[in-house]
Amino acid sequence: MKLLEGKTAIITGASRGIGKAVAIEFAKQGANVAFTDLFYNEAAQETEKEIASYGVKAKGYASDASNFADTDKVVAEIVKEFGAIDILVNNAGITKDTLLMRMTEDQWDMVINVNLKSVFNFTKAVQRTMLKQRSGSIINMSSVVGVSGNAGQSNYSASKAGIIGFTKSVAKELGSRGIRSNAIAPGFIITEMTGQLPEDVVKEWAGKIPLKRGGTPEEIAKTCVYLGCDLSSYVTGQTLHVCGGMNV
Ligand code: NAD
Repeated sequence: MKLLEGKTAIITGASRGIGKAVAIEFAKQGANVAFTDLFYNEAAQETEKEIASYGVKAKGYASDASNFADTDKVVAEIVKEFGAIDILVNNAGITKDTLLMRMTEDQWDMVINVNLKSVFNFTKAVQRTMLKQRSGSIINMSSVVGVSGNAGQSNYSASKAGIIGFTKSVAKELGSRGIRSNAIAPGFIITEMTGQLPEDVVKEWAGKIPLKRGGTPEEIAKTCVYLGCDLSSYVTGQTLHVCGGMNV
């Protein structure tokens, strides 16, 4: 039996990387998938095709997750097109890494808006539909550095720590209505985001990880399947570290 048969999911920032892997894993498990990214470009069209190849409904939408009005509009379109929202994966995220001494106001605001405000925007926009359904699973992509902090990532760590506080509050507010809210804290995952790092930095990171390697987007996607489906029906308000033991 497929774990997400008949469910509808929204995944933000899913043209590539972890978001794309989540979209494909969800499709393999029978979910219909609506996904967003900044542009409906070639990468988004390719992702849409790949999702649809598993025989589910798939549609990509251009939308800036950090923009409140844009988010409200796209969620209304998705509800009209798909009829329900069972799972929301708040995945869109960026980095603007630099030491605090050099960090500009713009670098701070951009990271907070794309990584944290987007989670508020989408959760607020799907809330009414999930409340009506009296069910839903919200999955927020945090990071190990949201728990541990990291030099050169004060903006990013703050955004990811904020996500954890938000996740717990939503779990407490909406639990009585059958809506669950959890966060995932990935460690070092090999995607285009981390692909920009020099090889020696990657080697150093891997050396510190008990499992001695970076994770794959698919390994994060499988955790999303767990949190999205009924296997995790009594799990809410939690942060699952998927990091090869990096944060223990
Ligand atoms: P990525 O850069 O490969 O993909 C991020 C996607 O989000 C891109 O498609 C991008 O276009 C999209 N995006 C950016 N800004 C957006 C916006 N305003 N609105 C809509 N979409 C937007 O990154 P990734 O490595 O796949 O990371 C995905 C998530 O996982 C992020 O939230 C990231 O912080 C988190 N994460 C990644 C790692 C890692 O090691 N890769 C570790 C911990 C957490």
